[in-house]
Parts: sequence; structure tokens; C-alpha cells
Amino acid sequence: MTDPSTPLIAVEHVDKWFGSLHVLRDVNLDVRRGEVVVVVGPSGSGKSTLCRVINRIEPIDSGVIRVDGRPLPAEGRALARLRADVGMVFQQFNLFSHRSILDNVTLGPVKVRGIPREQARRRARELLARVGIADQADKMPAQLSGGQQQRAAIARALAMDPKVLLFDEPTSALDPEMINEVLDVMTTLAGDGMTMVVVTHEMGFARRAADRVVFMADGQLLEQAPPTDFFDHPRTDRARDFLSKVL
Ligand code: ADP
Ligand code: MG
Repeated sequence: MTDPSTPLIAVEHVDKWFGSLHVLRDVNLDVRRGEVVVVVGPSGSGKSTLCRVINRIEPIDSGVIRVDGRPLPAEGRALARLRADVGMVFQQFNLFSHRSILDNVTLGPVKVRGIPREQARRRARELLARVGIADQADKMPAQLSGGQQQRAAIARALAMDPKVLLFDEPTSALDPEMINEVLDVMTTLAGDGMTMVVVTHEMGFARRAADRVVFMADGQLLEQAPPTDFFDHPRTDRARDFLSKVL
């Protein structure tokens, strides 16, 4: 199979435009197996777009993105397969509102991975237990708190057995008292060796859980460093300015 030293995600010289707006500028980023990369930066700097191009929800204008060594294909079944390797957790949970929590966690594995339904349901119950909401399996999303819904969304992403999980501001839509229950699940996943890319404004989480912090501004990746280096010794004025506002 793939050489274990191959980065799970390789973003190489990627540019992305929205009309005349240059939102990703020659972005280069490797994510290695088991690594937790936390992406921080001001609003509008291109963090969500970076997540979306890695999952090919958005096409890129130039450069290459490889998942486990393979360039992302433009479309078709090969894209669907590679995309299934990259799980995504969004700010707004994006659960299917007319399906039970258990169905939400079961549908992807059955439809995309071809897992037998009963097996998928057993696995879904295990995953719901892992994120601490086993007792919510038969409820509808709207019956759960925001923190519980986001944990269900994490279980749903895990059910696809992704090689890497992308989180785009997973706690930004949550009431403050629910943020930690979601960050705790993410910290546990990180400790279990899950490869993760996390866009967040939770600097405490970044310090605790990140192997590497990446700082973006104006579509450029300006700094990459272990969290203590980045937070204690930011190198650019943009990063110092950003940190002075968020810390
Ligand atoms: P961030 O997640 O860091 O806040 P985004 O990646 O969402 O930044 O956005 C980067 C820039 O691209 C912003 O200026 C935003 O307004 C713009 N943008 C994002 N998505 C679109 C889109 N679908 N069409 C046009 N402009 C977009
Ligand atoms: Mg964003």
C-alpha cells in the first residue's frame, strides 16, 4: 500500500480565485499520519476555503492536492472514494434533519462504503457511545443540544473510517457551556492517533492538542510552528497582531 512516510494530505502550490478575489495564494501544506494541524487566522483569510478544496467541495485553479499520495481527481467515482477518506465536520453540524441520529451515522457507510445495514448500525451505536451520546441514538437532531448534535456529526464522520478528519470551526456555533464537551471529544480523538486538520479560534485547544499551528492571513500560509513556538514567539507582524486580539 502507500508508503507510511507519504503525507496523508499534500497541498502543493495551490491557488484559488473567487472571481477577481485571490483567496488561496500559493498554499503549501503537508499533513502527516497521526498529526494534528490547527489552522488559525483572521476571518476571511481563506481557512474554510482551504478545508473545502482539500475535500474538493471547491475546485482549485492551480496546484495539486494529494490524499494519501494520490492527486484528487476532478470528478466521478474516484473522487467519491477519495472524498470518503477525508471526513469533514462543519460549524453548522449539517445533520440530516429528518433522520434519526442513528440513521445519520448509518447512511454514509451503507450507501458509500457498502457496509451491511445491521453492521453499520452496530458500529454507529459504538461510535455514539464513544462521543458520549449513546442514549440519543433514536432521537431527531432538533431534539439534541448543539453540543450533542456536533458530537453526532463527529460520530457520523468517523463512521466512514476516514484517513483524516477536517474540522471547520466546530465549536463556533455552540453556546459557551457546550464548547468543552466537543473539544474533549476532539482531544480524545487526537490522543487516539487520528489525523486531524482543525480550523478554530479556541487557542487553548490549539496549545493543548496541536502538533503544529498554521497561521493564515490574506490567503497565504504565513507561519507554521509547534504551538509553544507560535504562541510565544510569533514571527510575523500579522500573527502578533492576530494573537493580541484573540488571546
Ligand atoms: P475564513 O474561513 O478564513 O473566514 P473563507 O475561506 O471563508 O475565510 O473566505 C475567504 C475569502 O473568500 C473571503 O473574502 C470570502 O468572502 C471569500 N469567499 C468565500 N467563499 C466564497 C464564495 N463561494 N464566493 C465568493 N467569495 C467567497
Ligand atoms: Mg471560515
